[in-house]
Amino acid sequence: MIFKVTAKNELKKLFENLAAHNRVVGPVQIGENKNGKPLYAFEDVHEFSDLRLDYTTTRLPAKRFFLPFEENLATFKIEDGNWEKTVDYNVEQPVVFFGLHPCDINALNKLDKVLMHSVYPMPYYVAKRKNMFIVGIDCIPQPHCFCRSMGSDTALTGFDLFITDIGDKYFIEILTDTAFNFLRYLKIEEPNDKDHVKYMKSHEKKSKKFTANVDTNDLTKILDLEFQSGVWEQWGGKCLGCGSCSHVCPTCYCYGVEETVDIDLKGAKKTKKLHSCTLIDFAEVAGGHNFRPHRNDRLKYRYYHKHRGFVEAFEESLCVGCGRCGETCLAGITVPEVIASVRGNGRKK
Ligand code: SF4
Ligand code: SF4
Repeated sequence: MIFKVTAKNELKKLFENLAAHNRVVGPVQIGENKNGKPLYAFEDVHEFSDLRLDYTTTRLPAKRFFLPFEENLATFKIEDGNWEKTVDYNVEQPVVFFGLHPCDINALNKLDKVLMHSVYPMPYYVAKRKNMFIVGIDCIPQPHCFCRSMGSDTALTGFDLFITDIGDKYFIEILTDTAFNFLRYLKIEEPNDKDHVKYMKSHEKKSKKFTANVDTNDLTKILDLEFQSGVWEQWGGKCLGCGSCSHVCPTCYCYGVEETVDIDLKGAKKTKKLHSCTLIDFAEVAGGHNFRPHRNDRLKYRYYHKHRGFVEAFEESLCVGCGRCGETCLAGITVPEVIASVRGNGRKK
């Protein structure tokens, strides 16, 4: 990794050069909540002044740009008894993500493990992922963030360059050749001792701001032990089975495939739609049998996949601690509270 510093007003040049030939997606303000606090979302950005690099969090992750809710996998044309299949990976142009927080970069790293580097890679995801340029930016922990507990409060890989605000300058971490090439448009300098100290201090300051946490020590073992625990029924009794937690989760990738045939039988298409393990039909199979008809079993499955099964397969959890699920859940179900209750020291309602 290479480190540089630059004056804050130089960043605009980086944006403009990246935006000249690429689609840029970044955090923008889309309104205010009822308490007057700004609401942010990842959207296409055309002007540097529209970017809100000081954003707190977005309700939806950037997932829709590389793992869309609905995507055509293939279309078919049928004529004179012959059929032709067309596959499109739906990549129109390279996308620059300008201003991803460490949790969202780490979420991408986890998705890569399953969708890019596993035995069965998903070409639709791989094609989009290979056409990305990522500018990460450090964040200020919010009350619902527990990324520190999940080891996702900093990003070591998965970005091209990463920016930290050290007061009068930006401290830049450079990970790829492409990023280094783009930096030639900016006035950059080697960081001096003072910059190093400011960088370390900014991390120290950030660590002190976390209020939410999850005790992950021996968690897989504890989940094994507590598989039959009554807490799952208690949380399941609150869960509405709405699927919102998966919808806002940057690491949820489960999907279903639907095939539809045109009424004139001359065409057909295969469509992928993101699904949620908390929805009632997630584990329903042909013949109508449902392996998890009860909400408590489905909610439990979500936690066991993220915090146990994925750890067994990839040696890390499938949760980055962004807290979006808890912020979105109408029943007020949050990961820190559920895990604490499984450990026997949290709320059990
Ligand atoms: S945990 Fe919350 S968001 Fe998730 S399905 Fe249940 S009620 Fe919906
Ligand atoms: S499970 Fe919740 S806290 Fe964990 S990554 Fe998904 S949305 Fe974020």
